[in-house]
Amino acid sequence: MVVIQCPHCNLEVELDEGVSGLFDCPHCGEEFEWGEMDEETDLTQVNSVAWVGLLALTLILILYWIAVYNETGRLPWDGIFHGLIRLIFGF
Ligand SMILES: [Zn+2]
Repeated sequence: MVVIQCPHCNLEVELDEGVSGLFDCPHCGEEFEWGEMDEETDLTQVNSVAWVGLLALTLILILYWIAVYNETGRLPWDGIFHGLIRLIFGF
Protein backbone atom coordinates (compact mmCIF):
# COMPACT_ATOMS: atom_id res chain seq x y z
CA MET A 1 0.00 0.00 0.00
CA VAL A 2 1.06 3.56 -0.65
CA VAL A 3 -0.35 6.56 1.18
CA ILE A 4 -0.81 9.73 -0.83
CA GLN A 5 -2.46 13.07 -0.19
CA CYS A 6 -5.70 13.92 -1.95
CA PRO A 7 -5.07 17.06 -4.05
CA HIS A 8 -8.55 18.34 -3.19
CA CYS A 9 -8.90 17.90 0.59
CA ASN A 10 -5.27 17.06 1.49
CA LEU A 11 -6.37 14.04 3.52
CA GLU A 12 -4.47 10.76 3.27
CA VAL A 13 -5.68 8.19 0.75
CA GLU A 14 -4.42 4.61 0.66
CA LEU A 15 -3.80 3.05 -2.76
CA ASP A 16 -2.41 -0.29 -3.90
CA GLU A 17 1.18 -0.09 -5.08
CA GLY A 18 1.70 0.07 -8.84
CA VAL A 19 -1.85 1.18 -9.61
CA SER A 20 -2.56 4.10 -11.92
CA GLY A 21 -5.51 6.01 -13.30
CA LEU A 22 -8.45 7.91 -11.86
CA PHE A 23 -9.49 7.38 -8.25
CA ASP A 24 -12.27 8.69 -6.05
CA CYS A 25 -11.15 10.21 -2.77
CA PRO A 26 -12.94 8.40 0.09
CA HIS A 27 -12.99 11.62 2.14
CA CYS A 28 -14.29 14.29 -0.27
CA GLY A 29 -15.48 12.13 -3.17
CA GLU A 30 -13.45 14.10 -5.74
CA GLU A 31 -11.61 12.35 -8.56
CA PHE A 32 -7.84 12.54 -8.87
CA GLU A 33 -5.19 11.05 -11.11
CA TRP A 34 -2.41 8.88 -9.78
CA GLY A 35 0.49 6.95 -11.28
CA GLU A 36 1.53 6.61 -14.91
CA MET A 37 -1.03 7.99 -17.29
CA ASP A 38 -2.53 5.75 -19.98
CA GLU A 39 -1.74 8.23 -22.77
CA GLU A 40 1.99 8.01 -22.10
CA THR A 41 1.88 4.22 -22.07
CA ASP A 42 -0.04 4.17 -25.36
CA LEU A 43 2.45 6.55 -27.00
CA THR A 44 5.37 4.37 -25.92
CA GLN A 45 3.65 1.32 -27.35
CA VAL A 46 2.98 3.09 -30.67
CA ASN A 47 6.63 4.16 -30.82
CA SER A 48 7.79 0.60 -30.15
CA VAL A 49 5.53 -0.79 -32.88
CA ALA A 50 6.78 1.86 -35.31
CA TRP A 51 10.42 1.03 -34.54
CA VAL A 52 9.88 -2.73 -34.87
CA GLY A 53 8.06 -2.15 -38.16
CA LEU A 54 10.87 0.05 -39.48
CA LEU A 55 13.46 -2.50 -38.40
CA ALA A 56 11.55 -5.35 -40.05
CA LEU A 57 11.18 -3.33 -43.24
CA THR A 58 14.92 -2.60 -43.32
CA LEU A 59 15.70 -6.27 -42.72
CA ILE A 60 13.35 -7.36 -45.52
CA LEU A 61 14.95 -4.81 -47.87
CA ILE A 62 18.46 -6.08 -47.03
CA LEU A 63 17.39 -9.72 -47.48
CA TYR A 64 15.74 -8.79 -50.80
CA TRP A 65 18.96 -7.10 -51.94
CA ILE A 66 21.04 -10.14 -50.98
CA ALA A 67 18.59 -12.50 -52.69
CA VAL A 68 18.59 -10.46 -55.92
CA TYR A 69 22.38 -10.10 -55.80
CA ASN A 70 22.84 -13.85 -55.36
CA GLU A 71 20.49 -14.60 -58.24
CA THR A 72 21.58 -11.99 -60.77
CA GLY A 73 25.03 -10.95 -59.57
CA ARG A 74 23.83 -7.35 -59.59
CA LEU A 75 22.34 -5.08 -56.99
CA PRO A 76 18.61 -4.39 -57.33
CA TRP A 77 19.44 -0.72 -57.89
CA ASP A 78 20.68 -1.74 -61.37
CA GLY A 79 17.36 -3.37 -62.14
CA ILE A 80 15.37 -0.42 -60.84
CA PHE A 81 17.63 2.03 -62.66
CA HIS A 82 17.44 0.16 -65.98
CA GLY A 83 13.74 -0.39 -65.48
CA LEU A 84 13.24 3.35 -65.06
CA ILE A 85 15.36 4.13 -68.14
CA ARG A 86 13.38 1.58 -70.14
CA LEU A 87 10.17 3.09 -68.85
CA ILE A 88 11.17 6.68 -69.67
CA PHE A 89 13.16 6.25 -72.90
CA GLY A 90 11.53 3.07 -74.17
CA PHE A 91 14.59 0.80 -74.55
ZN1 LIG B 1 -10.18 14.28 -1.01
